Amino acid sequence: SARDGLGAYIAKPESYPSSVVINHNADFVAIYDMFPKSSLHILLLPRDQSKTHLHPFEAFEDAEFLAKVKAQVYKLRSHAAGELRRKYGKYSAQDKARQEALDLEPPPDVLPAGRDWEKEIVCGVHAVPSMNHLHVHVIAVDRYSERLKHRKHYNSFATPFLVPIEDFPLSPDDERRHPTREGYLKRDFVCWRCGKGFGNKFVELKQHLEQEFDEWKRL
Ligand code: 5GP
Ligand code: ZN
Repeated sequence: SARDGLGAYIAKPESYPSSVVINHNADFVAIYDMFPKSSLHILLLPRDQSKTHLHPFEAFEDAEFLAKVKAQVYKLRSHAAGELRRKYGKYSAQDKARQEALDLEPPPDVLPAGRDWEKEIVCGVHAVPSMNHLHVHVIAVDRYSERLKHRKHYNSFATPFLVPIEDFPLSPDDERRHPTREGYLKRDFVCWRCGKGFGNKFVELKQHLEQEFDEWKRL
């Protein structure tokens, strides 16, 4: 079924171009999300056959496995931060090339302290995943994408429905263990950046997300 779509990447990562599979090793495959819900949306797929069919909450009960996944997620977040820096950073590769071509050196004391792009990336799992194979989202915070087309798309990344990887192991009484899908996904919209409420007005939220994206990427 369509819910098994991520299995192919785990089985044969080498058969995809680098525009689809970012990197892979014996234990993990990193891919670009085919329907990105942000300006950068990556998925980490653990290949462990004993874990790939488990719900993330169950898979992450194994402390050794969780530690491995976390380490790989943080590596991937750092890779993703590099992508954001290249896309939006004030001193992009293009700027550098231009400056080199002009034989100019940027004056060192006016260079801004580099923005910490890792802080602009969220890593986590959905409390109720829709795809069957275990995966961790590594996603830029902007939630700005043409593919963000439905109200549940926004709320699935902007409410406790997204459980950050650093919150694992979850305590036994963590309320996210018993998500009422409806509860989180049907909540009123709240802007991830300024906290403004949009009720159930999706079109207005989308317009606002575009404004926030423009400011966020240039900050
Ligand atoms: P979930 O809601 O299960 O946590 O997220 C599954 C993610 O997989 C979604 O963000 C969705 O866009 C993505 N996705 C679904 N099918 C495919 C696919 O065939 N290839 C890729 N690369 N991503 C997919
Ligand atoms: Zn806002």
